[in-house]
Amino acid sequence: MEAPKTLQQAIQYFSDFDTCKDFLVALRWPEGVVKCPRCGSDKVIWIEKARTWKCYGKHDHAKFSLKTGTIMEDSPIGLDKWLAALWLVVNCKNGISSCEMARDMGITQKTAWFLNHSIRMALHDGSIEKASGHVEADETFIGGKARNMHIAQRKRRITGTGTKDKTAVMGILERGGKVRTSVVSDRKKKTLQAEVHKHVEAGSALYTDFLLSYEGLEGKYAHKVVDHAVEYVNGNVHTNGLENYWALLKRTISGTYVSVEPFHLFRYLDEQSYRYNNRKDMDDFNRFKLAAAQMVGKRLDLERGHRQESRAGNVPFLREN
Ligand SMILES: [Zn+2]
Repeated sequence: MEAPKTLQQAIQYFSDFDTCKDFLVALRWPEGVVKCPRCGSDKVIWIEKARTWKCYGKHDHAKFSLKTGTIMEDSPIGLDKWLAALWLVVNCKNGISSCEMARDMGITQKTAWFLNHSIRMALHDGSIEKASGHVEADETFIGGKARNMHIAQRKRRITGTGTKDKTAVMGILERGGKVRTSVVSDRKKKTLQAEVHKHVEAGSALYTDFLLSYEGLEGKYAHKVVDHAVEYVNGNVHTNGLENYWALLKRTISGTYVSVEPFHLFRYLDEQSYRYNNRKDMDDFNRFKLAAAQMVGKRLDLERGHRQESRAGNVPFLREN
């Protein structure tokens, strides 16, 4: 069967368990030998009926499945649903809400929320490669919409005007390259410059707006400032790349998700930047395949109220990609 190109084809493709198995085996064990994710032994036997492997290596007779050591571990949801959900998240330009996903896939909204949220976690880009060349840095505020909030939540959150109830997000964009975004506690010099040092290669051309917080970076960067009170573009000096990105991000959040709890915002940022950073030179199947590879080695711990993530067990060769 040929690799799927559309959502419809993907749903059909992954409705077959053996196809899911072949796909995930090739992804997890590209060298062709299935190994126990816990002890690394290749003395394993596939038990068709239970759809698990049995390990005869160091830890005798222990079972593991295709889901072991991935974000899907411990989830009773079938691979067909997981993979279809992943396809939806990475290939819908503006994301997909849990309500929509529930309807499309015939699952409950609660389940869809869990799938959606786990997938966002897999989409986090752990790469430490710094931005270089021409780099824009800028911040924005993301806030929930009061009308869609529960009344108790509204009382708690809407305490003033302006930016008080919003969450500050810092963005760094390498022109022609990747965007990196993160939730920041404030727009103070210390906070914003720490992000710049962390994500931007020394010697790069750095473009920001006229904000005192960016003062003092010219020793390390070719820092150029555009004063938005005067003009938005001065030749090469602008932050239009990030302005466009913020517009896209806000459209997704307000259009698809309506409102996002500040605590979860970083996950939505990861989701949006995954799609943005992999939008070019990649078809839907490859965008999906890369994300599927990232599902391995990450797990969301529901019992601790989504608040803690644990990397699955002792899994030496399953790295976070
Ligand atoms: Zn083992």
